[in-house]
Amino acid sequence: MIQGTGLPVFPGVAIGPAFVHETAKLELPTAWGSAAEERQRFTDAKAQAQAQLQTLLEETAARLGQEHAMILDVQIMMLDDLDYVEAIEARIDGGDSAAHAVQETGEEFAEVFASMDDEYMKARSTDVRDVSRRVVEILCGFSSAMTMDVPGVLLAEDLTPSETVQLPKDKILAFVTRKGSANSHTAILARTMGIPSLVAADVDLSAIHSGDTVIVDGFTGQCYIRPDESTLAEMTAKQAEAQTAKEALEAYRGKETRTAKGRKVKLYTNIGSPDDVELVLKNDGEGVGLLRSEFLYLGRDTYPTEEELYTAYRQVVEGLQGRPVIVRTLDIGADKQADYFQLDAEENPALGLRGVRLCLSRPELFRTQLRAIYRASAHGPVSMMFPMIASLWEVQEVKALCKTIREELTAEGVAIGDVPLGVMIETPAAAVISDTLAHEVDFFSVGTNDLTQYTLAADRQNSALGRYCDPKHPALLWLLQRIADSAHAAGIWCGICGELAADATMTNTLMTMGYDELSVSPAQVLKIRKAISESEVVSQ
Ligand code: PEP
Ligand code: MG
Repeated sequence: MIQGTGLPVFPGVAIGPAFVHETAKLELPTAWGSAAEERQRFTDAKAQAQAQLQTLLEETAARLGQEHAMILDVQIMMLDDLDYVEAIEARIDGGDSAAHAVQETGEEFAEVFASMDDEYMKARSTDVRDVSRRVVEILCGFSSAMTMDVPGVLLAEDLTPSETVQLPKDKILAFVTRKGSANSHTAILARTMGIPSLVAADVDLSAIHSGDTVIVDGFTGQCYIRPDESTLAEMTAKQAEAQTAKEALEAYRGKETRTAKGRKVKLYTNIGSPDDVELVLKNDGEGVGLLRSEFLYLGRDTYPTEEELYTAYRQVVEGLQGRPVIVRTLDIGADKQADYFQLDAEENPALGLRGVRLCLSRPELFRTQLRAIYRASAHGPVSMMFPMIASLWEVQEVKALCKTIREELTAEGVAIGDVPLGVMIETPAAAVISDTLAHEVDFFSVGTNDLTQYTLAADRQNSALGRYCDPKHPALLWLLQRIADSAHAAGIWCGICGELAADATMTNTLMTMGYDELSVSPAQVLKIRKAISESEVVSQ
């Protein structure tokens, strides 16, 4: 038996045969034509690659949603990049074969991207390698499309974005990759598919053969290859137990969310795109407590227009069929970067121009969002909230802008709904002055992910700081109680949309503190409804 450990990205247990995915080494041609012939072969292969990517993009958008398809759009555009094309043609003119010229140029560009400071640009090195390989494969008459005849566990060094979208998804029980992080494309896909998976796993792929039995424990991050009998028996029992627990949660579907003593609690969901609305409905979410609007800005080259934003928000509002949605205005900066924003490099990006700070410094950027959100509010219940608030003046400026936009739209004769305004409490300063802020807004939503990092001075992105990022630290619990008390003293409701809301061991504490709403990822709704219904907290 071989045992490995990785970073679990979705809970559950999967058992099945291994599919070891190796990116085959390409044999480049040893003889080639004249420069004119090779240039033509390159142009044809480039066009073929773009056509393949376009088909893949349409299939992916239909199956997995627009956000997963976006990476393919980036790759289609890369193939038209003038610098890239000219570099390849120059190599061909220098006597190189088309295949070798593409391979070398792809590698050269990938290294340039990888050496950049900007995280978004760094990530593009995978795309340029990926898209160059596609062209080289076409030039060599080779195909790396993966086939799996029976369901199994996919093990790979890493999966490129175009490999992930081409995977035979109906056959994959789990992923295990040696590379990747909690927010890598593979991890996001595993969460969307709801399958137990590990990234950054320390397994030696050369010691595993396709067909070997593999067990992935998405609860602990362990995986076992060619398990011994007792491990197989133990994990089969754990899988059955997980399945039984999942089925037991079905009893909570369609039920109202109330504590054992009858106190009503709102149980909402966190989503990132209109495609996720389907998951909200499937998992019985009562609404959306956090729509992370960054998805509309990332993975593209230009700012979305008011019309694009409005269409996306309207899609969410209509998809929710009367359930409420809280749209968070853009929280870009820090770990979420888009190149076209041309943000200055910062020494401490988490303490920099992010969230509402960026919006207030770029009034046009903010205006477009506010207009789109207000317009969408004509189609169903919409609230709006602002990230990274630390001071009263920020809330007052934001409210003044909202008032101006409302008046502007009304004067234009545009229909808008009543849009309650809230703030995210995710800086210690906002928590401390929550008694003042509570008189300014209609609700609070606590972002415990950031509140934890800022209170404990522990970077949430740094995996080495795991035990320092403790949302149950007494300092956090003290702030959480203060926030709830401030909200209730001013007569407004308060909720939590950070990851702590999905921790069932904390549900009773949060109910005791008086929280009125919890917003969790769709797959966690039934688990938290059960935890709330078992809480003995009396009606308040
Ligand atoms: C949070 O900080 O807890 C939160 C919900 O926002 P994000 O994770 O998007 O920063
Ligand atoms: Mg946050």
